[in-house]
Amino acid sequence: MMGVALSNQAVCIACGSANRVPADKPAAAAKCGRCAAPLGLDRPAEVNDAQLALLLEKSTGLILVDVWAPWCGPCRAMAPQFATAAGALAGKARLVKLNADQSQMVQSLGVSGIPALILFRDGRIVDRKAGLIKADALTAWVGGHLTNSGKPAI
Ligand code: ZN
Repeated sequence: MMGVALSNQAVCIACGSANRVPADKPAAAAKCGRCAAPLGLDRPAEVNDAQLALLLEKSTGLILVDVWAPWCGPCRAMAPQFATAAGALAGKARLVKLNADQSQMVQSLGVSGIPALILFRDGRIVDRKAGLIKADALTAWVGGHLTNSGKPAI
């Protein structure tokens, strides 16, 4: 698969249905075609293992997962940075948060410390970073992957 997608397929976290999100419509206003819930593409969504598995299975495009925990200071410090990046990347990448304390999936994702950031394209891991990262660095990192769609996944 080569080239630039004209629309991304975004899964509704409320009902699990896949929605086509046209590139020329504002991502922040996108709603689910089935249940009318806002898709929330401009802000981080909290997901559990089942929701993340569904997102990775049904979504196309970039999904950035922030693995965090409530007791982790750097994770809490990164939360506003992650939220800012979600706004900047609205319609380009989906940013979600996975609570490591409530996840069995973190082991299979190869997470050894938190905060951990795992970037997926079309459900496959393409890159990862560890530790606290500022919003602009995060946005630039993910943005770099938008233009690298011909590169093979790691
Ligand atoms: Zn829905």
